[in-house]
Amino acid sequence: MPNSNPLDLLNAYIKEHKLRHTYERERVLEFILTIDGHFTVQSVHQQMNAEQPIARGSIYNILELFEKVGIIVRHPFSGNEAQYETTARANTHHHRVCISCGAIKEFSDQKIARAIKNRTFASFEKRFHSTYIYGLCKKCQPKIKKAKK
Ligand SMILES: [Zn+2]
Ligand SMILES: [Zn+2]
Repeated sequence: MPNSNPLDLLNAYIKEHKLRHTYERERVLEFILTIDGHFTVQSVHQQMNAEQPIARGSIYNILELFEKVGIIVRHPFSGNEAQYETTARANTHHHRVCISCGAIKEFSDQKIARAIKNRTFASFEKRFHSTYIYGLCKKCQPKIKKAKK
């Protein structure tokens, strides 16, 4: 796998697209690398703004850029706000998503992880993966069964 150090990825992207370096971008990068879980524009803004003022719009734009760079992944979960996760962290687990209530649980499975790791492609360069299994959580199973009757 190619070098996937987040700061290196960001710097390479900035250089390639001739963007200017901004202090805010690095500040947000530093912050999201400390998050152990999923996050949203709102949650990052709340925590960062409490320490030092930063505009919500800046965080929105920066996260959008990080997604393009491949530092974070936007999860396809339904809900009002997009949920993100660092790609380094997304590589370490899988997701179980309830299609009825939207509950999300993370789980580890070495076999699945190994299968993905071992899968290579002749004309495709793997960067990271994000896996989802959709179904019904324990709470929603009885509800759906009852409704069927
Ligand atoms: Zn996750
Ligand atoms: Zn559910």
